[in-house]
Amino acid sequence: MTRVASRRILIVGAGGLGVPAAMAIRRAGSCAREASWAIVLVDPDPVELSNLCRQVIYREADIGLPKVEAAARRLALAAAEFAIEAERCALEPANAMRLIGACDFVIDATDNPAAKFLINDTCIAAQRPFAYGGVLGMKGQAMTVIPSRTACLRCLFEEPPDEAEIASCREAGIVGPVAAAIGEVQAAQALQWLRGERPTLAGKILTLDGAANGIGSRTRITPVEPRRGCRCGAGRQGDLTHA
Ligand SMILES: [Zn+2]
Repeated sequence: MTRVASRRILIVGAGGLGVPAAMAIRRAGSCAREASWAIVLVDPDPVELSNLCRQVIYREADIGLPKVEAAARRLALAAAEFAIEAERCALEPANAMRLIGACDFVIDATDNPAAKFLINDTCIAAQRPFAYGGVLGMKGQAMTVIPSRTACLRCLFEEPPDEAEIASCREAGIVGPVAAAIGEVQAAQALQWLRGERPTLAGKILTLDGAANGIGSRTRITPVEPRRGCRCGAGRQGDLTHA
């Protein structure tokens, strides 16, 4: 049976973070019969051979196809009643408000700082919550932003990093299991929000160090206070971070 989706989750990026996030949400949607969610996948790129090792939804036969179409087809096969929408484009200033404004929750599964800040700023303007995610080598981070209430990316980092910093990040590469763990954490944040719960990482940043010794030292959750003067306005709201 096809249901009309009442809640839409936008996943920006169908790569190392976005694929595991979409798969986790699809699994949850298949179990929750009362839910009528849709996933909207946005990505401009085709599937490449180098993607197959960590973007587990793709197959060799998908090489050259748009990622969003290959991913949407596999997700739809696994859950026919679940709505999957594919948008083959990059998130850009010209389309960000249309795409983000049409959804209830946004997952930042991008790999470049400019897109992350565009998601941040558009979600603040449209008052849409989002889960930030970032991975670099064996390390990963995730944080949920509830506009005007909890710290945003610009509370953490005032401006995007410069080109030299971005280049050094690219060299560190992305480790599949670390990206998968962060993508699943982001999916969990979206699901909590859609169920009417407060996402556990609202106002808190999770850091994962896959190379640390001992289980206890691998993940850490740290509160992030809104920065007074940040344009997101959360710093004016007193201690709502912990509400
Ligand atoms: Zn802010």
